[in-house]
Amino acid sequence: MNIRTRLTLLFVLLVASIVLLFTVSVYYLYDQFREQEFQQRLSEKAFTTVRLREDVGEVPRADLPVMTDEQVTIYNRQGTVLYNQETKRPRFPVTPAFLGKVAPQKPQYNRIGDTEAIAVLHLNARKEPLIIVASGNDRYGLSKLDRLREILFSGWLLSLVIVGIAGYLFATDALRPVAELITQVNAISATNIHERLRVGRPRDELADLARTFNDLLIRLEEAFVLQKSFVSHASHELRTPLTVMMGQIEVTRLQARTTDEYEVAFDALLDEVKSMIRLVNGLLELARASSDVVTLNYQPVRIDELLWQAQSQIISKKPAYQIDIDFDNLPVHEEELVIVGEESLLQTAFQNLMENGCKYSPDGGVSVRILFERGQLKLTFSDQGYGIPQEDLPHIFEPFYRSESTMTINGHGIGLALTRRIIELHHGHIQVDSVVGKGTTFRITLPTTYTPTQASGGTHKLGESISG
Ligand code: ADP
Repeated sequence: MNIRTRLTLLFVLLVASIVLLFTVSVYYLYDQFREQEFQQRLSEKAFTTVRLREDVGEVPRADLPVMTDEQVTIYNRQGTVLYNQETKRPRFPVTPAFLGKVAPQKPQYNRIGDTEAIAVLHLNARKEPLIIVASGNDRYGLSKLDRLREILFSGWLLSLVIVGIAGYLFATDALRPVAELITQVNAISATNIHERLRVGRPRDELADLARTFNDLLIRLEEAFVLQKSFVSHASHELRTPLTVMMGQIEVTRLQARTTDEYEVAFDALLDEVKSMIRLVNGLLELARASSDVVTLNYQPVRIDELLWQAQSQIISKKPAYQIDIDFDNLPVHEEELVIVGEESLLQTAFQNLMENGCKYSPDGGVSVRILFERGQLKLTFSDQGYGIPQEDLPHIFEPFYRSESTMTINGHGIGLALTRRIIELHHGHIQVDSVVGKGTTFRITLPTTYTPTQASGGTHKLGESISG
């Protein structure tokens, strides 16, 4: 059942119940009122009859207002009939118990079918108690009651129809924005992901929903555009070396070559293949770092050891590079050096930053500094190289983004994207400061496993010895 039908039914049910309660109350109260009124008339009739009989000795029939099936009977305490107004009409049947219950100021009422009776007590001149039973049929009252019932019932039915229609229209109106939103959302696909939902009435909840959905679309579009550009960049980066390699092979095959010439050609091909392998490895690592976190193997790792390892890895490949690692201050507790993370990923991140520092500096040097702060580890990778222009700074962490100023230096633009992803995976932050011609500094903050319990610093200044 859809929401519109459910809302309509609920609305009808609610209003129908309220109207029914009201209708039944009106009917019941009116019935009570009619009954009281008729009892009043009957008891007046009873007293008038007995007084007339006592005062005048007879009851002049024509002068009194007459009720339908009217009958007045006077009994003594023993239940003997002393007087019967309509001798031809049957008396209202009463039992001795009923008569016995009648007391002064305490008349008794009874009803058989449409005939109602009231029994009242009267003391005659000799102070003898007489019980007068006046009965009759409240034809007008009962017919008014029947009419009222018909009116109320048909009114109730009519109100059901009106409420049903009104409820349906109301639900349709209330849900129209939802239907519009559904139509608009259905119209959005990968080809027109830039489109946004119209917000409609600006202050209601559906407008909030539309805005939330639009925010989601913005994020999706960004991811989508990134994905698209990622694929085209990756294809381009792979095609370029392949084209170069194909050209080299074709040129080499044009004529017979000497062994030396073949060697030169193969070396050039090998360089291209190595570069491609580096790119593919970078892409694989990026895919791994972007995949589900639970697939990663998190373990406690010592950050200083990782840095030394990263340094020796790079030096073994590029001995000309200068990588200095310094402690700004030394930790008191060994745990301050430990962070929980994926060793291989962290090493990749540090290698990228060290390699970039050396690669993009004429002196081929980078300086790494480590600073310990409560529960945090701060690393800076500074070089005195070419620097990054201000307009490039916001983009350098995007995959495949390379600054125009350093295009001549080999690279694929994957390293920093991967590094940032790795640092984020370890709940850390990475920032960059750079001045063109002066150098670049990357700052990394990583949480350590150590939780400081005391306010005392817990760090030594550089130069103090580390115990152990
Ligand atoms: P790659 O170095 O392979 O090009 P990265 O993602 O590591 O890819 O770096 C992206 C871009 O950021 C580089 O192309 C370069 O323009 C710039 N960059 C990164 N590190 C430095 C640095 N230390 N000094 C100057 N420019 C840098």
